[in-house]
Amino acid sequence: MADNPVEHTAVVAGVPVDTRHWIGGRRTASPASFADLSPVDGRELARLARGGAAEAGAAVAAASAAFPGWAATSRAERARVLHAVADGVEARLEDLARVETEDNGALLRAHRRSVMPRVAHNFRYFADKALELGEKDFETRGHRNHVSWDPAGPCALVTPWNAPLMLATWKVAPALAAGNTVVLKPAEWSPLTASLLADIAADAGLPPGVLNVLQGYGNEAGAALVSHPCVRRVSFTGSVPTGRSVAAAAAAHLTPVSLELGGKSPLLVFADADLDRAADLAAEQYDNAGQVCLAATRLLVEEGVAEEFTRRLAARAAALVQGDPRAEATGMGPLVHPRQLERVDGFVRRALAAGARAAYGGGRHEELGGLHYRPTLLTGVDQDSEIVQEEVFGPVLTLQTFRTEDEAVELAEGTRFGLAATLVTGDPRRAERVSARLTAGTVWVNCFYVRDLRAPFGGARESGVGREGGTWSFDFYCDVKNTVTAPADGGGHG
Ligand code: NAD
Repeated sequence: MADNPVEHTAVVAGVPVDTRHWIGGRRTASPASFADLSPVDGRELARLARGGAAEAGAAVAAASAAFPGWAATSRAERARVLHAVADGVEARLEDLARVETEDNGALLRAHRRSVMPRVAHNFRYFADKALELGEKDFETRGHRNHVSWDPAGPCALVTPWNAPLMLATWKVAPALAAGNTVVLKPAEWSPLTASLLADIAADAGLPPGVLNVLQGYGNEAGAALVSHPCVRRVSFTGSVPTGRSVAAAAAAHLTPVSLELGGKSPLLVFADADLDRAADLAAEQYDNAGQVCLAATRLLVEEGVAEEFTRRLAARAAALVQGDPRAEATGMGPLVHPRQLERVDGFVRRALAAGARAAYGGGRHEELGGLHYRPTLLTGVDQDSEIVQEEVFGPVLTLQTFRTEDEAVELAEGTRFGLAATLVTGDPRRAERVSARLTAGTVWVNCFYVRDLRAPFGGARESGVGREGGTWSFDFYCDVKNTVTAPADGGGHG
């Protein structure tokens, strides 16, 4: 495999990006490649190395070789290096933001102002949090119990395309801070910022093999990685069907898995709510063209206010500026890929054919063309219909009405998902009552998408297995051990 850097560089938004894997501190090519398309204009941005079992094996071998050294490095030193990675992210924030927008079509201003700063914060937060671990000593009849959070080993991290670097670093940072080494397999629809992260980490002084980036398709590189016997943790974010096969593959070696999967979250609007706030929160669900796992795509509205709420939401949807995600004024960019557009449109067409009504939207944005889809609200939908039960992952909301609190809870609870729920009400007692009855990893009351790295994050039911965030990340990425030491005089037994 001849490694000519120029041959393996794609220039995206003026930024050179290496299209090879990053394994053991070296760029590695593959005989095969895959095309990465821009959602902005459909152009081929790059051809990337298409890894398979051989490359996955090499990446895990590199991570295994680097593990003892990184695990033995003091937490303080690891924190220093991870803060240097965060510095590197901040220094290259503009490059990262521009490349990410070309690659997945999400808004450039969001990447600049909130997403990439959060990437840096992921490293800073988990680097510092790791320093607090291990302060849990206690005594049993004079015996000392010392609880330690030991790094588990090489971790396989597999991530989706909708928020590529943010979701990747939410796993990479705690895994590395805990003393593990990692192999990151980014999604094939938006693989570029992972390659830039490898450059940044190397410049920051992360030793070779501690972070490896494996490029390729899920059913090739991804499947080989998560089934590798030397991997000690698998953390996956993606769809429910893929999550199932990842869990099955990991089960062969009893490798612990963390699964952050899809959602079909409800947004409950009670008649006592501030309707403008409710409409604002509902309109937020079109962020990132609806390609957000947490999106509250099922609007459940109390009957008496449904008409007025719909009117206010429609006004907000009409004001949403669609277009080039690089433009400051744009509020909604394109969908990520032609296949995603087909998928979203398929759901909407089938819903309309089954009797749903489009209160607004309901199809592609014909004037803009490309991968632009109109923000859509469907009414007249049944609880057991496909459009209410399945995750669309596009700018498509459904609206159902309810008469009583019990009915609202029954509708909210009536899917196989449980990622998040949002409720809008002016009555604090109702907020307490209803949130206690909802099955969800996160419940937001009169707000949406307020996230804090200290909080647990994950899904109930088919929305996921396990929790990450705060100390929960370390519980997952570590082998927690209790060492019991007898007192000098031997103490008692039992
Ligand atoms: P996906 O499941 O198709 O792919 C996710 C990743 O898995 C990609 O890197 C892909 O290459 C890889 N993959 C595919 N098949 C694999 C296999 N057999 N073995 C190992 N890896 C494999 O998901 P997607 O379309 O990229 O992302 C959208 C989905 O992700 C939605 O369902 C969304 O709700 C979910 N998501 C969840 C969260 C969360 O935190 N809960 C966050 C973002 C996205």
